[in-house]
Amino acid sequence: MALDDVPKRPADLVLEGELRGEDHRRIRLLPFEVPNGVESLAVRFDYDGKETKTVIDIGLNGPKGFRGWSGGNKSQFQIGPLVATPSYLVGQVDPGRWELVLGIPNIRAESKASYRAEIWMEKRQYLPKERRVEAREAGWFRGDLHLHTGHSDGSCKSQAGKRIPCPLFKTVQQAVDQGLDFISITEHNTISHLQAIHEIEGYFDQIVVLPGVELTTFWGHVNLVGVMGHVDYVRASKSPDDLQSVVEAARQSGAYAILNHPGLPSGEACMGCGWSPGIEKAYNFDGLEVVNGGAVRSTFGQVEGPFSGFGHWVAALSAGRSMTAIGSSDNHDPTQIAETMGAIGRPATVVFATELSAPAIMTGLRSGRAFVDLDGVKGRILDLRLNGPSGAVTMGSSLSITKDMALSATLSAVNLPADATVQWMRDGEEMFSESVNSRENNVELTIRLTELSPGTHAVYVIVRKDSGRISAMTNPVYLKVLQN
Ligand SMILES: [Zn+2]
Ligand SMILES: [Zn+2]
Repeated sequence: MALDDVPKRPADLVLEGELRGEDHRRIRLLPFEVPNGVESLAVRFDYDGKETKTVIDIGLNGPKGFRGWSGGNKSQFQIGPLVATPSYLVGQVDPGRWELVLGIPNIRAESKASYRAEIWMEKRQYLPKERRVEAREAGWFRGDLHLHTGHSDGSCKSQAGKRIPCPLFKTVQQAVDQGLDFISITEHNTISHLQAIHEIEGYFDQIVVLPGVELTTFWGHVNLVGVMGHVDYVRASKSPDDLQSVVEAARQSGAYAILNHPGLPSGEACMGCGWSPGIEKAYNFDGLEVVNGGAVRSTFGQVEGPFSGFGHWVAALSAGRSMTAIGSSDNHDPTQIAETMGAIGRPATVVFATELSAPAIMTGLRSGRAFVDLDGVKGRILDLRLNGPSGAVTMGSSLSITKDMALSATLSAVNLPADATVQWMRDGEEMFSESVNSRENNVELTIRLTELSPGTHAVYVIVRKDSGRISAMTNPVYLKVLQN
């Protein structure tokens, strides 16, 4: 459902009436009562007599006065504390007497016109997350889940060259120009960007823009993608345990939680940037940022090493947690040179989804069938599967076998670097590595997995360029090896 659509159920209130010639150039007020506990209003208005040039404009007053006027340009709208249809003011829906305002610039002396206003009083606010876009087919979709705009500390240069809080549309336009299919705008602790996302989403109808918050505390930073309201950062800042419970509450209401740049040091340079509670206190995350573009920039290009997220991720895997590896830019300036780390889409997370829509992207992320592309190569695909006795299992899923069963792993790759090294990994250790000098776009590599010890394992692939630097990595397929 797009934001401005009205609910599919019957309206809570219908205001009907008739206008006549004497209403020409008059304002009519239609009062109605809003009870306690209403979060948002949706209104649909229609009238007849248009063929005889009757025109009825609409607006809205709340108990405290003016709440908007859309004239004749919108036949339906909604209004609430997080977002409102442009023409209307975002804000609380106070209980009390409201008025639908009818302006009648024209009705002929002999004319009659019937109007009908349907009003829905909702206990929740619709948000932009459910808008669908064009791609209805399953496939790989490329995104960046960690972006800041002027709604927090994102900035860019104004026309005159001053550094200013950067308007959100610049970030979305740059994501489109970089060929991304989805993004998440994750501002520090605020949700003021929800209205800005709503205002641009009708125009940007080929990219999924997920609302998000970077929950920013003294203990660490957590991206909550798809978050649908205020996140209690004050409570989360009290202690690591409070942070965990706030994250869990957000997850229960539909957010996808990513532990951000856990390897960064916390200190006066960047307060709360690292993850101080320890990985054993990260039980309720869906994903972990193994590569953060901004962190790579601030640590002079280090993708691996102590400041990266790899160590935390491998520790989480070793503890038996299935945390999806995520790569995000953490971009704070959409005009940053596109080929550099930390520019929008560098790195990207590429996810397999059943269609290009917000719910399908969220489901795809949760499935774990995703890979990280550090080099932002358009059209690149990395898909890993384990082939067991009863069939193949893809990234993010789990396969159970007994110790003596035959097992192989297959990597299907499109657009690998020219002289790639493919490293087959298990639980943070290399099992096998091979050079791939293929000039072909598509390669399929298979290895046999042997000598597996009983227990839970994570099998994944890292692709390196000839410089040795990581170019891309898959997520794991999880393997449970049982005693015979
Ligand atoms: Zn952060
Ligand atoms: Zn950030």
